[in-house]
Amino acid sequence: MTTSRIAARVRRIKPSPSTSAADRANELRRQGKSIVNLVVGEPDFDTPPHIRQAAAAAIERGATRYTLMAGTVELREAIVAKLERENGLRYAMNEIIATSGAKSAIYNAFAITLEPGDEVIIPAPYWVSYPDMVLACEGTPVTVACPESQGFKLAPAQLEAAITPRTRWLLINSPSNPTGASYTAAEYRALAEVLERHPHVMVMTDEIYEHIRFDGETTPHLLVEAPALRDRTLIVNGVSKTYAMTGWRIGYAAGPVDLIKALDTLLSQSTGNCCSVSQAAAAAALNGDQSFVAESVAVYKQRRDRTLALINDIPGLSCATPPGAFYLYINCGGLIGKTTPEGKCLNEDGDVVMYLLESEGVAVVAGTAYGLSPYFRLSIATSIETLEEGCTRIARAVAALR
Ligand code: PMP
Repeated sequence: MTTSRIAARVRRIKPSPSTSAADRANELRRQGKSIVNLVVGEPDFDTPPHIRQAAAAAIERGATRYTLMAGTVELREAIVAKLERENGLRYAMNEIIATSGAKSAIYNAFAITLEPGDEVIIPAPYWVSYPDMVLACEGTPVTVACPESQGFKLAPAQLEAAITPRTRWLLINSPSNPTGASYTAAEYRALAEVLERHPHVMVMTDEIYEHIRFDGETTPHLLVEAPALRDRTLIVNGVSKTYAMTGWRIGYAAGPVDLIKALDTLLSQSTGNCCSVSQAAAAAALNGDQSFVAESVAVYKQRRDRTLALINDIPGLSCATPPGAFYLYINCGGLIGKTTPEGKCLNEDGDVVMYLLESEGVAVVAGTAYGLSPYFRLSIATSIETLEEGCTRIARAVAALR
């Protein structure tokens, strides 16, 4: 047997399950099957014109060279202004770093802080990448199941029970991918009360879906509710979801100077600064006209409401109303134990997802990928026609079960 050339810390991680599901759907499409792809986790809108124009202007004026590692002064000033305007938080320029997507901020924050075996508390369901990022940095993901009955959110007693002397981080993603669950101000205060007893625990807040909120709700901020946590909290955010800018790869972190400095050092010796042209675009997004945000959220809301109604009409499926983000996390417990027309028993949500794909060409992602079963995630970041077609097919597939 040959020993692997790949390091153990990398062999412990797996490719993103949503990418694998999308790959399988694309493969079936290439084979000529009609596929309704409800996997993708990115806005289907184009980046608004004023942002694209800012990027074009940046290219023309020659903003095509290395920038400061932490990001241009223009972009960091825009982030400082955003945090003050939208969140009521004051950050200095040296407490902010721009990264190649929020993903890079999260991964590198683990890379600069985790010693082998250090624990990261990850409420489940979680975004698929978190546990693998922790593993890649030789940490130990400590997932805590947060069932639907508690709104898919971490309860203070669960947090208390999960903390050990090895806990480095609590990771909070609100609104959440995949459930849309969003912590209220009071829930933040209750979690903060626990954290006050455990000063060694840092908090990472992944706020990438901050603005995708329905029913007139806004997203509270942990640090507004618990300012005492400021010196051990790392805010992670970015422009990908809010401004339909997933391909531009701009995220950022805001937090204590020692963490930001270490991120700067590690990134300067690895990827270097994020794309100069994208930084100009992101500054324009944060500083410019915000009407795209409300307009796109109104469209997501229509899709959410329509798709929820269709899904909740299907016997065996149920979905709680997500207050944010652009996914439905659908409970498929009522299908477990049923048999397909081919005689295969559906034993878990992965079987349900394979059945929907192979029988009706509907691509969704199994709840196992997010750490809480039996569910599947359906993305509403696609046209209402596609969503209706997807639901019709899901209903047909379910009706064929025995
Ligand atoms: N956090 C969550 C919860 C996400 O869903 C995503 C995108 N799927 C990201 C972070 C990554 O965002 P970015 O494109 O800025 O890297």
